[in-house]
Amino acid sequence: MTPPEPPLRLILDTDALVHNWRVLDRLSGTARAGAAVKADGYGLGAVRVVRALAAAGCRDFFVAYPSEAAALEGLVDSDRIAILHGPQSLAEAQWIAARGFRPVINSVRQASMWADAGAGPCDLMVDTGINRLGVAMADLAAPAITTLNIRTVHSHLASADEDSPLNAQQLSRWRWACAQIGQGEVSLANSAGIMLGSDFHGDLTRPGLALYGGVPSIALASEIRQVAFPEAAIMQVRTVNAGEGIGYNATFVAERDMRVGVVAMGYADGYLRCWSGKGVMRADDAHLPVLGRVSMDMTVIDLSAAPHLGEGDWVGLDYTLPEAARISGLSQYELLTLLGGRFAR
Ligand SMILES: *Cc1c(COP(=O)(O)O)cnc(C)c1O
Repeated sequence: MTPPEPPLRLILDTDALVHNWRVLDRLSGTARAGAAVKADGYGLGAVRVVRALAAAGCRDFFVAYPSEAAALEGLVDSDRIAILHGPQSLAEAQWIAARGFRPVINSVRQASMWADAGAGPCDLMVDTGINRLGVAMADLAAPAITTLNIRTVHSHLASADEDSPLNAQQLSRWRWACAQIGQGEVSLANSAGIMLGSDFHGDLTRPGLALYGGVPSIALASEIRQVAFPEAAIMQVRTVNAGEGIGYNATFVAERDMRVGVVAMGYADGYLRCWSGKGVMRADDAHLPVLGRVSMDMTVIDLSAAPHLGEGDWVGLDYTLPEAARISGLSQYELLTLLGGRFAR
């Protein structure tokens, strides 16, 4: 018999996910929108994300590592799954080639390994100014690069979510690089980059965050719907008397007698201590503020607004990403990818 699951669940609104992809695909103009599904679909479960988006017509998927590609095998054609970090060794290059995935080549060294593994079709990431992964502009003429069979030439924006001169600079370098390479489709924009306009769209865009309900750019705020809804059960209800403290170090002291609930979610689940005294949970319309410190496996909430709630009832986290980021100080990306392995997905 399988053991009982912890009482945490991460609800994925697949209609909202598909809606967001359609919005981003439309905003990508003549380009088509793919989907970044690395880090297990930003923590939401890559398999169910890819299933939903593929059914909606999305054809291009991006993961970071070979193991992430393997987890998606059979859901879509393997050569539509691009491995952003590329091969880290010859053995990895051979594995990628044998399985038919598409590596994104990020360096001359990776290009040589890919050639040694059979030189099949691949993507190329050119670094135009983020100074992270990617082939340097100065290396584009290297024979290992010019002999690649390139499907898509990518670059990645450092400041797409800001009005920064870096955007125009990266755009012009990317155009120069694409002309220099002279083969393949071209791709530059992440979620925020799509909002920079048609110059940035190329043939293919690579949104991640906004698919999952993140709002990287104010212009998207009214269009993007929340996708991820973390929920957990109340394990115990207790009455705390006026003057008593709650949780570690008693950082909250009750001013009146109050009915509180102990919820099965803590920082080990990605509900970090920065939510202590700040977070809010919900049951229908009732606001249930977090009282005192978040513990590793549990959090105490005020049940005053919901006297009908009892042990075994479920509550939802207030987790609208832009608002949650403002309150917690975490990025919208972190808020998604932190959500831990104990949630049923
Ligand atoms: C993660 C990633 C994306 C998606 O970025 P978002 O900001 O989440 O839309 C796009 N391209 C590359 C290369 C990435 O690593």
